[in-house]
Amino acid sequence: MDHTNGTTTGQPPGHTAMAMTPKEWADWRSQLRHALDDASAVRRLLGMPPEEACGRLPMKITPYYLDVLMQSEAAPLRRTVVPSQAEERIGPEEYEDPLGETAHQTSACVVHTYPGKVLFLATDQCAVHCRYCTRSRWLGHGACSERDWQAGIEYIRSDSTIRDVLISGGDPLMMEDARLDELLDALRSIAHVEIIRIGTKMPAALPQRITPWLLEVLKKYHPLWMVIHFTHASELTPECAAACGCLADAGIPLAAQTVLLKGVNDDEESLCALMEGLLKIRVRPYYLLQCDPVIGSSHFRVPIRKGQAIIRSLHGRTTGLAIPAYMVDAPGGGGKVPVMASFVEGYDGTHWQLNDCQGGIKTYYDPEDT
Ligand SMILES: *Cc1c(COP(=O)(O)O)cnc(C)c1O
Repeated sequence: MDHTNGTTTGQPPGHTAMAMTPKEWADWRSQLRHALDDASAVRRLLGMPPEEACGRLPMKITPYYLDVLMQSEAAPLRRTVVPSQAEERIGPEEYEDPLGETAHQTSACVVHTYPGKVLFLATDQCAVHCRYCTRSRWLGHGACSERDWQAGIEYIRSDSTIRDVLISGGDPLMMEDARLDELLDALRSIAHVEIIRIGTKMPAALPQRITPWLLEVLKKYHPLWMVIHFTHASELTPECAAACGCLADAGIPLAAQTVLLKGVNDDEESLCALMEGLLKIRVRPYYLLQCDPVIGSSHFRVPIRKGQAIIRSLHGRTTGLAIPAYMVDAPGGGGKVPVMASFVEGYDGTHWQLNDCQGGIKTYYDPEDT
């Protein structure tokens, strides 16, 4: 069977010096087999200065994503997947497990932090390794056995307060269609599970993964949502747009999560270009996440005040649909906390003083309920 998705042109770019036929280029499994792990070679290909790579999280980049990185507009994006010496600096407030997930792991693959919703860690594999990964401690360590899965599904089945299951990892779309089908089927058979979400980076990292066969599987389990990790407008290639189009046509509402990263997307122009670009491919910006204090990530962290100023500048500049909620995931657990810029200047019990985005202050009459 031909496992290509039929939406990509399937032309392997000549300049990446990777011996792949057009058919291999369009096949997601073949992309993964050809994933790059030699940081010095990739630095050379991208014209980055040589550096001793850090060994904590191995490099992994699909040939497709390398081709994205080759575009000159993608220069800021390169640091997010190519290892650098800066990762060896460990800040005083950095942790292996910044969100204290291990403490909230009710079984090997379920993280239950909030009432009503859980994270199901379905696989420890990803198509590319983000250098700022919150779960780098866990990635590629052989977690998620069949037994872990069964225990996780049983946990969800036994707690009728769980209405929302977010399948994550790792990247759930690293699994074969049949395995994903099995998991979705098990979760859908639980009456109290109302919505299922899949968290993935595939439309950005490996859009070839969005095949007609995958869509056939996903379509059976509505309401199914997808939350996609996007970082920079240069990821929004024609292949990526086609993949998101197929998912949207299959009835899957698409949302985006973006990590705010220093020198990558921490300015009004690049963030606005990404958020508006996402709307054009039918993806709704959902969260802008502060970079978690995972060890060796301090070179990526942006002050929250700066993040708030950027979000503030988006209000009044672009469509409201393009503005994500700015969130900090509480260190040690407790969940995500909104740290939105405030437009409220004050309240005296009868009048609110409100910033109107044009630099003016408006008064809104609103006496306290007595
Ligand atoms: C992010 C997260 C969720 C989902 O949170 P939403 O704010 O509903 O998107 C659920 N569980 C855990 C542990 C999470 O980190």
